[in-house]
Amino acid sequence: MTGSTVTSQRKDSRVLIIGGGVAGTACALRLRSLGMAVDLVEKATFPRPKVCGCCIGEAGLHAFSQLGLRDRVWERAAITNRWSASLGGRRIELAIPAGVAISREVLDPLMLESAIEAGAQVTTNCTARIESVDPRSVSVKLEHNATTVTANYECVVIASGLRTGGMKDLLPWTEMPRGPFGVSFMASSTDVEPGVIYMACNKDGYVGMVKLADGRVDVAAALNSGATSAAVGTPMTRVQSILASSQFAPVVLSDPSTLMTTPPLRRARQTGNGRLLAIGDAAGYVEPFTGEGMTWGMQGGIAAAELIATQKGHLQTVGDEWNQKLETLLRSRKRTCRFVTTALRSPTVCRIAANTLTWFPSLATPLLRSMNKT
Ligand SMILES: Cc1cc2nc3c(=O)[nH]c(=O)nc-3n(C[C@H](O)[C@H](O)[C@H](O)COP(=O)(O)OP(=O)(O)OC[C@H]3O[C@@H](n4cnc5c(N)ncnc54)[C@H](O)[C@@H]3O)c2cc1C
Repeated sequence: MTGSTVTSQRKDSRVLIIGGGVAGTACALRLRSLGMAVDLVEKATFPRPKVCGCCIGEAGLHAFSQLGLRDRVWERAAITNRWSASLGGRRIELAIPAGVAISREVLDPLMLESAIEAGAQVTTNCTARIESVDPRSVSVKLEHNATTVTANYECVVIASGLRTGGMKDLLPWTEMPRGPFGVSFMASSTDVEPGVIYMACNKDGYVGMVKLADGRVDVAAALNSGATSAAVGTPMTRVQSILASSQFAPVVLSDPSTLMTTPPLRRARQTGNGRLLAIGDAAGYVEPFTGEGMTWGMQGGIAAAELIATQKGHLQTVGDEWNQKLETLLRSRKRTCRFVTTALRSPTVCRIAANTLTWFPSLATPLLRSMNKT
Protein backbone atom coordinates (compact mmCIF):
# COMPACT_ATOMS: atom_id res chain seq x y z
CA MET A 1 0.00 0.00 0.00
CA THR A 2 1.54 3.36 -1.05
CA GLY A 3 2.44 5.64 1.85
CA SER A 4 1.65 3.04 4.48
CA THR A 5 3.77 2.20 7.50
CA VAL A 6 4.78 -1.42 8.00
CA THR A 7 5.36 -2.93 11.40
CA SER A 8 5.34 -6.42 12.85
CA GLN A 9 3.82 -7.79 16.07
CA ARG A 10 3.90 -11.12 17.91
CA LYS A 11 0.53 -12.31 19.21
CA ASP A 12 1.43 -16.00 19.44
CA SER A 13 -0.93 -16.74 22.31
CA ARG A 14 -4.00 -15.23 20.65
CA VAL A 15 -6.64 -16.42 18.22
CA LEU A 16 -7.49 -14.20 15.21
CA ILE A 17 -10.94 -14.24 13.59
CA ILE A 18 -11.14 -12.80 10.05
CA GLY A 19 -14.66 -11.45 9.42
CA GLY A 20 -17.28 -9.93 11.74
CA GLY A 21 -20.47 -11.47 10.29
CA VAL A 22 -22.66 -13.86 12.27
CA ALA A 23 -20.17 -16.77 12.12
CA GLY A 24 -17.12 -14.74 13.21
CA THR A 25 -18.89 -12.91 16.03
CA ALA A 26 -20.51 -16.15 17.33
CA CYS A 27 -17.03 -17.69 17.45
CA ALA A 28 -15.60 -14.61 19.24
CA LEU A 29 -18.41 -14.60 21.81
CA ARG A 30 -17.98 -18.31 22.61
CA LEU A 31 -14.17 -18.01 22.80
CA ARG A 32 -14.51 -15.13 25.27
CA SER A 33 -17.01 -17.07 27.38
CA LEU A 34 -14.39 -19.84 27.53
CA GLY A 35 -11.74 -17.35 28.71
CA MET A 36 -9.71 -17.20 25.47
CA ALA A 37 -8.00 -14.02 24.20
CA VAL A 38 -9.31 -13.14 20.74
CA ASP A 39 -8.72 -10.51 18.04
CA LEU A 40 -11.39 -10.00 15.36
CA VAL A 41 -10.83 -7.96 12.20
CA GLU A 42 -13.59 -6.84 9.84
CA LYS A 43 -12.85 -5.12 6.55
CA ALA A 44 -16.11 -3.14 6.44
CA THR A 45 -17.45 -0.42 8.71
CA PHE A 46 -20.76 -1.52 10.22
CA PRO A 47 -23.60 -1.41 9.42
CA ARG A 48 -22.67 -2.88 6.04
CA PRO A 49 -24.97 -4.26 3.34
CA LYS A 50 -25.29 -8.05 2.95
CA VAL A 51 -27.35 -10.19 0.57
CA CYS A 52 -29.68 -12.13 2.88
CA GLY A 53 -33.28 -13.26 3.38
CA CYS A 54 -33.00 -12.24 7.10
CA CYS A 55 -35.06 -15.21 8.42
CA ILE A 56 -33.96 -17.32 11.36
CA GLY A 57 -35.76 -20.42 12.64
CA GLU A 58 -35.82 -22.45 15.85
CA ALA A 59 -32.22 -23.71 15.64
CA GLY A 60 -30.93 -20.16 15.09
CA LEU A 61 -32.88 -18.92 18.10
CA HIS A 62 -31.26 -21.69 20.14
CA ALA A 63 -27.82 -20.49 18.95
CA PHE A 64 -28.73 -16.92 20.07
CA SER A 65 -29.65 -18.34 23.51
CA GLN A 66 -26.28 -20.13 23.74
CA LEU A 67 -24.57 -16.80 22.97
CA GLY A 68 -26.68 -14.89 25.51
CA LEU A 69 -28.28 -12.77 22.74
CA ARG A 70 -31.82 -14.14 22.48
CA ASP A 71 -33.60 -11.25 24.27
CA ARG A 72 -31.62 -8.55 22.45
CA VAL A 73 -32.40 -10.13 19.07
CA TRP A 74 -36.05 -10.76 19.94
CA GLU A 75 -36.55 -7.07 20.90
CA ARG A 76 -35.33 -5.90 17.48
CA ALA A 77 -36.89 -8.56 15.24
CA ALA A 78 -40.27 -9.33 13.70
CA ILE A 79 -41.75 -12.72 14.65
CA THR A 80 -42.48 -15.18 11.82
CA ASN A 81 -44.87 -18.12 12.21
CA ARG A 82 -46.35 -18.77 8.76
CA TRP A 83 -44.96 -19.87 5.41
CA SER A 84 -46.77 -18.99 2.20
CA ALA A 85 -45.45 -20.54 -1.00
CA SER A 86 -46.35 -20.38 -4.64
CA LEU A 87 -45.45 -23.82 -5.98
CA GLY A 88 -46.50 -25.38 -9.28
CA GLY A 89 -49.27 -22.81 -9.80
CA ARG A 90 -50.77 -23.28 -6.32
CA ARG A 91 -50.58 -21.17 -3.18
CA ILE A 92 -49.79 -23.15 0.00
CA GLU A 93 -50.01 -21.79 3.55
CA LEU A 94 -48.36 -23.61 6.47
CA ALA A 95 -48.02 -22.78 10.16
CA ILE A 96 -44.32 -23.04 11.12
CA PRO A 97 -42.51 -22.95 14.49
CA ALA A 98 -41.92 -19.33 15.59
CA GLY A 99 -38.78 -17.72 14.18
CA VAL A 100 -37.62 -14.17 13.54
CA ALA A 101 -36.89 -11.81 10.64
CA ILE A 102 -34.15 -9.30 11.41
CA SER A 103 -32.24 -7.06 9.00
CA ARG A 104 -28.49 -7.61 8.74
CA GLU A 105 -28.02 -3.85 9.30
CA VAL A 106 -29.40 -4.48 12.79
CA LEU A 107 -28.20 -8.01 13.60
CA ASP A 108 -24.53 -7.80 12.59
CA PRO A 109 -23.68 -4.61 14.57
CA LEU A 110 -25.59 -6.04 17.55
CA MET A 111 -23.44 -9.19 17.48
CA LEU A 112 -20.21 -7.24 16.91
CA GLU A 113 -20.96 -4.86 19.82
CA SER A 114 -21.71 -7.88 22.02
CA ALA A 115 -18.33 -9.40 21.11
CA ILE A 116 -16.62 -6.11 22.08
CA GLU A 117 -18.54 -6.01 25.40
CA ALA A 118 -17.40 -9.60 26.03
CA GLY A 119 -13.75 -8.50 25.68
CA ALA A 120 -12.84 -9.36 22.07
CA GLN A 121 -10.34 -6.90 20.52
CA VAL A 122 -12.27 -5.80 17.43
CA THR A 123 -10.84 -3.69 14.58
CA THR A 124 -13.21 -2.66 11.79
CA ASN A 125 -12.11 -1.20 8.45
CA CYS A 126 -9.25 -3.71 8.61
CA THR A 127 -8.47 -6.22 5.85
CA ALA A 128 -6.60 -9.42 6.69
CA ARG A 129 -4.50 -11.52 4.35
CA ILE A 130 -2.90 -14.76 5.48
CA GLU A 131 0.78 -14.72 4.52
CA SER A 132 1.98 -18.14 5.68
CA VAL A 133 1.21 -21.01 8.02
CA ASP A 134 4.01 -22.88 9.75
CA PRO A 135 4.01 -25.42 12.59
CA ARG A 136 4.48 -22.66 15.21
CA SER A 137 2.14 -19.88 14.04
CA VAL A 138 0.11 -18.24 11.29
CA SER A 139 1.45 -15.00 9.84
CA VAL A 140 -1.24 -12.49 8.82
CA LYS A 141 -0.95 -9.09 7.12
CA LEU A 142 -3.47 -6.58 8.53
CA GLU A 143 -4.21 -3.34 6.64
CA HIS A 144 -5.93 -0.64 8.67
CA ASN A 145 -5.97 3.16 8.10
CA ALA A 146 -2.95 3.20 5.77
CA THR A 147 -0.96 1.07 8.21
CA THR A 148 0.15 -2.48 7.49
CA VAL A 149 0.99 -4.76 10.38
CA THR A 150 2.21 -8.34 10.11
CA ALA A 151 1.17 -10.35 13.15
CA ASN A 152 1.70 -13.99 14.15
CA TYR A 153 -1.20 -15.89 15.69
CA GLU A 154 -1.49 -19.25 17.41
CA CYS A 155 -4.60 -20.00 15.39
CA VAL A 156 -6.71 -18.23 12.71
CA VAL A 157 -10.45 -18.69 12.14
CA ILE A 158 -11.53 -17.63 8.64
CA ALA A 159 -15.10 -16.26 8.72
CA SER A 160 -14.85 -14.01 5.67
CA GLY A 161 -18.06 -15.09 3.93
CA LEU A 162 -18.43 -15.81 0.19
CA ARG A 163 -15.67 -13.42 -0.91
CA THR A 164 -12.72 -15.26 0.57
CA GLY A 165 -9.94 -12.99 -0.67
CA GLY A 166 -7.57 -13.27 2.27
CA MET A 167 -7.34 -17.06 2.22
CA LYS A 168 -5.00 -17.75 -0.72
CA ASP A 169 -5.10 -21.45 -1.64
CA LEU A 170 -4.51 -22.63 1.90
CA LEU A 171 -7.87 -24.42 2.07
CA PRO A 172 -8.44 -25.86 -1.43
CA TRP A 173 -11.86 -26.15 -3.08
CA THR A 174 -13.46 -29.57 -3.22
CA GLU A 175 -16.26 -28.01 -5.31
CA MET A 176 -15.46 -24.77 -7.17
CA PRO A 177 -18.08 -21.96 -6.83
CA ARG A 178 -20.91 -22.64 -9.31
CA GLY A 179 -24.69 -22.70 -9.58
CA PRO A 180 -27.15 -19.92 -8.78
CA PHE A 181 -26.19 -16.49 -7.51
CA GLY A 182 -27.93 -14.47 -4.80
CA VAL A 183 -29.78 -11.15 -5.13
CA SER A 184 -31.42 -9.04 -2.46
CA PHE A 185 -32.93 -5.60 -1.98
CA MET A 186 -35.32 -3.68 0.24
CA ALA A 187 -38.80 -3.12 -1.19
CA SER A 188 -42.29 -2.03 -0.39
CA SER A 189 -45.33 -4.16 -1.11
CA THR A 190 -48.99 -3.99 -0.23
CA ASP A 191 -49.27 -7.77 -0.41
CA VAL A 192 -46.68 -8.83 2.19
CA GLU A 193 -48.17 -9.38 5.65
CA PRO A 194 -46.15 -9.30 8.89
CA GLY A 195 -45.23 -12.73 10.28
CA VAL A 196 -45.28 -14.57 6.94
CA ILE A 197 -42.28 -15.90 4.99
CA TYR A 198 -43.22 -15.84 1.28
CA MET A 199 -41.58 -18.07 -1.31
CA ALA A 200 -42.17 -18.14 -5.08
CA CYS A 201 -40.39 -20.62 -7.37
CA ASN A 202 -40.10 -21.19 -11.09
CA LYS A 203 -37.43 -22.73 -13.32
CA ASP A 204 -35.31 -19.52 -13.21
CA GLY A 205 -34.94 -19.73 -9.42
CA TYR A 206 -36.83 -18.64 -6.33
CA VAL A 207 -37.70 -15.45 -4.47
CA GLY A 208 -38.27 -15.08 -0.72
CA MET A 209 -39.94 -12.08 0.96
CA VAL A 210 -40.47 -11.08 4.57
CA LYS A 211 -41.61 -7.93 6.38
CA LEU A 212 -38.99 -6.57 8.81
CA ALA A 213 -39.67 -4.87 12.16
CA ASP A 214 -39.25 -1.40 10.54
CA GLY A 215 -41.95 -2.16 7.91
CA ARG A 216 -39.59 -2.63 4.96
CA VAL A 217 -39.84 -5.82 2.90
CA ASP A 218 -36.61 -7.81 2.47
CA VAL A 219 -36.58 -9.53 -0.93
CA ALA A 220 -33.92 -12.22 -1.49
CA ALA A 221 -33.57 -14.53 -4.47
CA ALA A 222 -31.35 -17.23 -5.92
CA LEU A 223 -31.27 -17.05 -9.74
CA ASN A 224 -29.69 -19.42 -12.27
CA SER A 225 -26.30 -18.24 -13.55
CA GLY A 226 -24.92 -18.56 -17.07
CA ALA A 227 -25.22 -16.57 -20.29
CA THR A 228 -28.62 -18.05 -21.30
CA SER A 229 -30.13 -17.16 -17.94
CA ALA A 230 -28.55 -13.68 -17.91
CA ALA A 231 -30.12 -13.00 -21.35
CA VAL A 232 -33.57 -13.28 -19.69
CA GLY A 233 -33.03 -9.86 -18.06
CA THR A 234 -31.46 -8.00 -15.17
CA PRO A 235 -31.61 -9.58 -11.68
CA MET A 236 -34.43 -7.14 -10.81
CA THR A 237 -36.56 -7.99 -13.89
CA ARG A 238 -36.00 -11.71 -13.26
CA VAL A 239 -37.17 -11.37 -9.65
CA GLN A 240 -40.31 -9.52 -10.85
CA SER A 241 -40.93 -12.17 -13.49
CA ILE A 242 -40.78 -15.00 -10.89
CA LEU A 243 -43.28 -13.02 -8.78
CA ALA A 244 -45.47 -12.41 -11.87
CA SER A 245 -45.60 -16.17 -12.52
CA SER A 246 -46.70 -16.72 -8.88
CA GLN A 247 -49.82 -15.66 -7.00
CA PHE A 248 -47.91 -12.82 -5.29
CA ALA A 249 -48.09 -9.13 -6.23
CA PRO A 250 -44.97 -7.40 -7.66
CA VAL A 251 -42.77 -5.45 -5.25
CA VAL A 252 -41.44 -1.90 -5.57
CA LEU A 253 -37.70 -1.35 -5.05
CA SER A 254 -37.72 1.23 -2.25
CA ASP A 255 -33.97 1.97 -2.06
CA PRO A 256 -31.79 1.23 -5.14
CA SER A 257 -28.61 1.33 -3.00
CA THR A 258 -29.77 -1.91 -1.29
CA LEU A 259 -29.79 -3.93 -4.55
CA MET A 260 -26.87 -6.38 -4.34
CA THR A 261 -25.76 -9.65 -5.92
CA THR A 262 -23.33 -12.42 -4.90
CA PRO A 263 -20.91 -14.66 -6.78
CA PRO A 264 -22.16 -18.23 -7.59
CA LEU A 265 -23.32 -19.79 -4.32
CA ARG A 266 -22.68 -23.54 -4.39
CA ARG A 267 -19.18 -24.38 -3.21
CA ALA A 268 -17.31 -26.71 -0.84
CA ARG A 269 -13.75 -26.65 0.45
CA GLN A 270 -11.40 -28.29 2.88
CA THR A 271 -12.42 -26.50 6.07
CA GLY A 272 -9.32 -26.87 8.20
CA ASN A 273 -5.57 -27.29 7.91
CA GLY A 274 -2.98 -27.09 10.70
CA ARG A 275 -3.69 -23.89 12.62
CA LEU A 276 -6.41 -22.67 10.19
CA LEU A 277 -10.17 -23.22 10.49
CA ALA A 278 -12.94 -21.94 8.16
CA ILE A 279 -16.50 -21.32 9.40
CA GLY A 280 -19.76 -19.92 7.99
CA ASP A 281 -19.97 -19.25 4.24
CA ALA A 282 -16.17 -19.28 4.03
CA ALA A 283 -16.36 -23.03 4.78
CA GLY A 284 -18.77 -23.76 1.90
CA TYR A 285 -22.36 -23.07 0.92
CA VAL A 286 -25.33 -24.88 -0.57
CA GLU A 287 -28.17 -22.43 -1.33
CA PRO A 288 -30.44 -20.25 0.73
CA PHE A 289 -33.80 -21.94 0.02
CA THR A 290 -34.12 -23.41 3.49
CA GLY A 291 -32.88 -20.17 5.09
CA GLU A 292 -30.24 -21.72 7.31
CA GLY A 293 -26.94 -20.04 6.45
CA MET A 294 -26.84 -17.80 9.53
CA THR A 295 -27.72 -20.71 11.81
CA TRP A 296 -25.01 -22.94 10.32
CA GLY A 297 -22.56 -20.04 10.62
CA MET A 298 -23.34 -19.50 14.31
CA GLN A 299 -23.34 -23.24 15.11
CA GLY A 300 -20.01 -23.61 13.30
CA GLY A 301 -18.57 -20.60 15.14
CA ILE A 302 -19.60 -21.99 18.52
CA ALA A 303 -18.28 -25.49 17.76
CA ALA A 304 -14.95 -24.11 16.42
CA ALA A 305 -14.49 -22.02 19.59
CA GLU A 306 -15.12 -25.06 21.78
CA LEU A 307 -12.60 -27.14 19.82
CA ILE A 308 -9.97 -24.38 20.04
CA ALA A 309 -10.52 -23.99 23.80
CA THR A 310 -10.11 -27.73 24.45
CA GLN A 311 -6.82 -27.79 22.48
CA LYS A 312 -5.46 -24.52 23.91
CA GLY A 313 -1.65 -24.50 23.87
CA HIS A 314 -1.55 -27.39 21.33
CA LEU A 315 -3.26 -25.90 18.32
CA GLN A 316 -0.88 -27.10 15.60
CA THR A 317 -3.39 -29.70 14.26
CA VAL A 318 -6.71 -28.13 15.38
CA GLY A 319 -7.65 -27.39 11.74
CA ASP A 320 -7.23 -31.03 10.69
CA GLU A 321 -9.65 -32.07 13.43
CA TRP A 322 -12.05 -29.24 12.46
CA ASN A 323 -12.24 -30.60 8.93
CA GLN A 324 -13.83 -33.81 10.30
CA LYS A 325 -15.92 -32.13 12.97
CA LEU A 326 -17.67 -29.58 10.71
CA GLU A 327 -18.39 -32.27 8.12
CA THR A 328 -20.15 -34.36 10.83
CA LEU A 329 -22.02 -31.33 12.22
CA LEU A 330 -23.56 -30.16 8.94
CA ARG A 331 -23.40 -33.10 6.50
CA SER A 332 -27.00 -34.37 6.76
CA ARG A 333 -28.52 -30.86 6.83
CA LYS A 334 -26.53 -29.75 3.78
CA ARG A 335 -27.62 -32.91 1.97
CA THR A 336 -31.31 -32.20 2.71
CA CYS A 337 -30.90 -28.56 1.62
CA ARG A 338 -29.21 -29.62 -1.65
CA PHE A 339 -31.97 -32.16 -2.34
CA VAL A 340 -34.78 -29.64 -1.71
CA THR A 341 -33.23 -26.86 -3.78
CA THR A 342 -32.53 -29.19 -6.73
CA ALA A 343 -36.00 -30.78 -6.59
CA LEU A 344 -37.84 -27.45 -6.51
CA ARG A 345 -36.32 -26.40 -9.84
CA SER A 346 -38.41 -29.12 -11.52
CA PRO A 347 -41.97 -27.97 -12.39
CA THR A 348 -43.23 -31.57 -12.02
CA VAL A 349 -41.78 -31.92 -8.50
CA CYS A 350 -43.24 -28.50 -7.58
CA ARG A 351 -46.69 -29.59 -8.74
CA ILE A 352 -46.52 -32.88 -6.81
CA ALA A 353 -45.18 -31.12 -3.68
CA ALA A 354 -47.92 -28.48 -3.90
CA ASN A 355 -50.70 -31.08 -4.25
CA THR A 356 -49.31 -33.20 -1.42
CA LEU A 357 -48.85 -30.27 1.00
CA THR A 358 -52.32 -28.91 0.20
CA TRP A 359 -53.94 -32.15 1.36
CA PHE A 360 -51.36 -33.33 3.93
CA PRO A 361 -49.65 -30.21 5.41
CA SER A 362 -48.28 -32.26 8.32
CA LEU A 363 -45.89 -33.96 5.86
CA ALA A 364 -43.79 -30.77 6.00
CA THR A 365 -43.09 -31.36 9.73
CA PRO A 366 -40.27 -33.97 9.41
CA LEU A 367 -38.51 -31.77 6.84
CA LEU A 368 -38.78 -28.68 9.07
CA ARG A 369 -37.54 -30.72 12.03
CA SER A 370 -34.50 -32.07 10.17
CA MET A 371 -33.61 -28.50 9.08
CA ASN A 372 -33.88 -27.18 12.62
CA LYS A 373 -31.53 -29.51 14.49
CA THR A 374 -29.93 -27.66 17.39
C1 LIG B 1 -30.06 -14.77 -1.48
C2 LIG B 1 -29.67 -15.23 -0.08
C3 LIG B 1 -30.64 -15.33 0.91
C4 LIG B 1 -30.29 -15.79 2.19
N1 LIG B 1 -31.27 -15.87 3.15
C5 LIG B 1 -30.95 -16.35 4.37
C6 LIG B 1 -31.94 -16.43 5.39
O1 LIG B 1 -33.10 -16.05 5.21
N2 LIG B 1 -31.57 -16.94 6.59
C7 LIG B 1 -30.28 -17.37 6.83
O2 LIG B 1 -30.01 -17.84 7.94
N3 LIG B 1 -29.32 -17.25 5.90
C8 LIG B 1 -29.62 -16.76 4.69
N4 LIG B 1 -28.64 -16.62 3.75
C9 LIG B 1 -27.28 -17.03 4.08
C10 LIG B 1 -26.58 -16.04 5.01
O3 LIG B 1 -26.67 -14.72 4.49
C11 LIG B 1 -25.11 -16.44 5.16
O4 LIG B 1 -25.01 -17.84 5.29
C12 LIG B 1 -24.48 -15.78 6.40
O5 LIG B 1 -24.50 -14.39 6.29
C13 LIG B 1 -23.02 -16.26 6.54
O6 LIG B 1 -22.42 -15.53 7.57
P1 LIG B 1 -20.84 -15.39 7.61
O7 LIG B 1 -20.54 -14.77 8.94
O8 LIG B 1 -20.19 -16.67 7.25
O9 LIG B 1 -20.47 -14.40 6.41
P2 LIG B 1 -20.84 -12.86 6.22
O10 LIG B 1 -22.07 -12.51 6.92
O11 LIG B 1 -20.75 -12.63 4.75
O12 LIG B 1 -19.64 -12.09 6.94
C14 LIG B 1 -18.34 -12.14 6.45
C15 LIG B 1 -17.62 -10.85 6.87
O13 LIG B 1 -16.22 -10.99 6.61
C16 LIG B 1 -15.72 -9.72 6.18
N5 LIG B 1 -14.47 -9.98 5.42
C17 LIG B 1 -14.37 -10.61 4.21
N6 LIG B 1 -13.08 -10.70 3.84
C18 LIG B 1 -12.35 -10.12 4.84
C19 LIG B 1 -10.95 -9.90 5.03
N7 LIG B 1 -10.03 -10.32 4.14
N8 LIG B 1 -10.55 -9.27 6.16
C20 LIG B 1 -11.48 -8.86 7.10
N9 LIG B 1 -12.81 -9.03 6.95
C21 LIG B 1 -13.24 -9.67 5.85
C22 LIG B 1 -16.85 -9.17 5.31
O14 LIG B 1 -16.77 -7.75 5.20
C23 LIG B 1 -18.09 -9.63 6.08
O15 LIG B 1 -18.59 -8.65 6.98
C24 LIG B 1 -28.95 -16.14 2.48
C25 LIG B 1 -27.97 -16.02 1.49
C26 LIG B 1 -28.31 -15.57 0.22
C27 LIG B 1 -27.23 -15.44 -0.82
